[in-house]
Amino acid sequence: MYQSFLIKYAEIAIKGKNRYIFEDALVRQIHRALKQVDGSFQVRRLQGRIYVDAKSEFDEDEVIGALSKVFGIVGICPVVLLEDEGFDKLAQEVTAYMDRVYPDKNITFKVHARRARKNYPMDSMELNAALGEKILEAFPEIRVDVHNPDVLLCVEIREEINLYSEEIKGPGGMPVGTNGKAMLLLSGGIDSPVAGYMIAKRGVSVDAVYFHAPPYTSERARQKVVDLAKIISRYTGDIHLHIVNFTDIQLYIYEQCPHEELTILMRRYMMRIAEHFAKENNCLGLVTGESIGQVASQTMQSLAATNAVCTMPVYRPLIGFDKNEIIGISEKIDAYETSILPFEDCCTIFVAKHPVTKPNLKAMERSEKRLSEKIDQLMETAIKTAEIVCVKAGEDE
Ligand code: ATP
Ligand code: MG
Repeated sequence: MYQSFLIKYAEIAIKGKNRYIFEDALVRQIHRALKQVDGSFQVRRLQGRIYVDAKSEFDEDEVIGALSKVFGIVGICPVVLLEDEGFDKLAQEVTAYMDRVYPDKNITFKVHARRARKNYPMDSMELNAALGEKILEAFPEIRVDVHNPDVLLCVEIREEINLYSEEIKGPGGMPVGTNGKAMLLLSGGIDSPVAGYMIAKRGVSVDAVYFHAPPYTSERARQKVVDLAKIISRYTGDIHLHIVNFTDIQLYIYEQCPHEELTILMRRYMMRIAEHFAKENNCLGLVTGESIGQVASQTMQSLAATNAVCTMPVYRPLIGFDKNEIIGISEKIDAYETSILPFEDCCTIFVAKHPVTKPNLKAMERSEKRLSEKIDQLMETAIKTAEIVCVKAGEDE
């Protein structure tokens, strides 16, 4: 019954020139989201508002589902747009609207008129009263409640008259593309996809790097990570996923270094390689799914040892989250079912029984000296042979 959606976004942070950057990016992201939906749509900017107009048949739930994944949107209002053809015609349209949208009239309502166009002959108070009266006349069971109505019917007099009463909550945040790009270390676990989602929520575009260890890790484990990238790409937009063969580096560390240090040493090489791709792709930082104290490799000491090899900022959006909070977000973004599929991860294969929980940076650096003979060559090969998959939302690999 609707042909258009009014897109609401928070305007607090976006004054002056930034406002256009924000709106341009938001419109781009809306276009991107709508590509995944059947139908053809026009996105219009009018007087500081954004409208999505359907130009063909469409499925309302599908459109709302796609728009709910666009950061920057705070509300999606299915809206009826009317030409101004005088008050009587408006009153007719308003009662017809109430009848269509609320077949059960055992409800309370309130009209909330706003006049953005001051040349309209009635002011908003007059409109509230007059339209309220028409609705009461048309439907005897319906009641007015000005304090806590079931239905708040918004009637906005603009270039076109906007009629709407429902607002579906958007994800908030800032449109992707307004805050640069970061390189996400994406594993097949629960945390890193959530970290990618969180950083994108602040307007950051995302590329990713995944380390696997064939034949110790399987093709299915790799596919799981591609699938996770696809899931978060519904929010982040396209992701260039770098798939790095980490086997030889892992085996070499395993041969040369104390096993309880393995995880941290591996992490340090992961960070170095991730940083290489980050620089190559104009990223402004790295992103991980780490949270303080979650496992041995995420104590403050371990994080410090991992961090020490990075020259770029490392963003850890989940740092203060409990696991169950992370799981909550993972479920909300539909990643959880995929994340818990039981495929092996390269980190768990060579894991020590008793990994260090308070690694000493000097000791780590000493261990890495044992790798000096071959590690540069191995890193170079890992980087050179990396496979890059462009993961596009809504498309198969
Ligand atoms: P996740 O649920 O994201 O796998 P985790 O709880 O398993 O995290 P760790 O295995 O300690 O924790 O990994 C910490 C972080 O290091 C991950 O969140 C991810 O950002 C990065 N990471 C770990 N393994 C890999 C990998 N194989 N490829 C890419 N990044 C990885
Ligand atoms: Mg993991």
